[in-house]
Amino acid sequence: MSRTRIGIVGAGQLGRMLALAGYPLGISCVFLDRSADTPGAQVAPIIVGDLEDPEKLQELARRSDVVTFDWENIAGSALAPLRHISAVRPPRAALEVSQDRIREKALFVKLKIPVAPHAAVDSAGQLSRAVLELGAPGVLKTRRLGYDGKGQFVLRTARDIDAAWAALGGVGLIYERFQAFSREVSMVGARSARGDMVFYPLSSNTHGNGILHYGIAPFASARLERDAQRYMRRVMQELSYVGILAIEFFVVAGRLIANEMAPRVHNSGHWTIEGCTTSQFQNHLRAICDLPLGSTSALGHTAMINFLGTMPDKDALLAIDGLAYHDYGKQPRPGRKVGHCTILKKHARDRDLALQRALKLIRWT
Ligand code: AMP
Repeated sequence: MSRTRIGIVGAGQLGRMLALAGYPLGISCVFLDRSADTPGAQVAPIIVGDLEDPEKLQELARRSDVVTFDWENIAGSALAPLRHISAVRPPRAALEVSQDRIREKALFVKLKIPVAPHAAVDSAGQLSRAVLELGAPGVLKTRRLGYDGKGQFVLRTARDIDAAWAALGGVGLIYERFQAFSREVSMVGARSARGDMVFYPLSSNTHGNGILHYGIAPFASARLERDAQRYMRRVMQELSYVGILAIEFFVVAGRLIANEMAPRVHNSGHWTIEGCTTSQFQNHLRAICDLPLGSTSALGHTAMINFLGTMPDKDALLAIDGLAYHDYGKQPRPGRKVGHCTILKKHARDRDLALQRALKLIRWT
């Protein structure tokens, strides 16, 4: 019997899109989040409480066959007791690895997945040594709780060491050599408990201030696609992974350098809702519910554009043929992901023209 009740830790837009994907499958979701004023709570019931509150987590697990995540930074110790109540998917080990950039890099190195030269930094002295050994420019990042470019400082030369330490020092850090990438790409894939794996076409992603602005997919490069699948397969097998996994890469001199992974549905996979036979959200639910995985084949050429800060002019965007509009129901706030749109076209050239037209209507604030 497949599982049909899903508890989702975090009720952001990812959780909301998971819950919406659940309805046609007869899967019902319940959220846990700090506030009822969240995108997820507009579409499914919510338990209001801290994400790591043991009692609330257990209540969520009691109301679910499987607990999954819209936010991966939940302490392993908070999740451990849940395994007596319901399944936890993806596995705790995958969350723990992805919560710490050093552990994540160590996993990639162990699995022979190329990464940027890097070093752990816990003191000003260690930072000076890391910059001396690895060279500058480089990026200093917090080991934990960094996302969308938050908790990062770019050191152009060794003269920036004091400023970088002043900005971030005091928590565990990682220094990475700067990657002069030609582009950033990401792969999203799913693995079922039986070990079946499916992979979406690569997406090519354009960021601003560390936040994804827009992406196009499929980004057709048979070689990069093959390498990314090979790397993702290794990570999934190593972690006995179940669910959707995303890995972000830099393309440097035509080779993939892994930057980070996310043990959940991912912003760079939103295009799959309209752009693929089965969306990343539906495949995550299929994987964690022991249902067969769906086809990841692309239906055409897509572009996905994030709405940051405020929603754009809906009338103007909807006038673009082939555009799908997603409003997450959030209050506007600078830098906040409040929605996105996807453009689906038969030909890449038409997609590019429509993308340029849509970009003129969107301001990232
Ligand atoms: P992250 O939080 O690691 O995904 O970093 C956010 C963004 O910062 C990335 O998408 C890149 O655009 C940039 N970035 C992070 N690390 C590096 C690096 N080692 N070299 C060059 N750019 C980087």
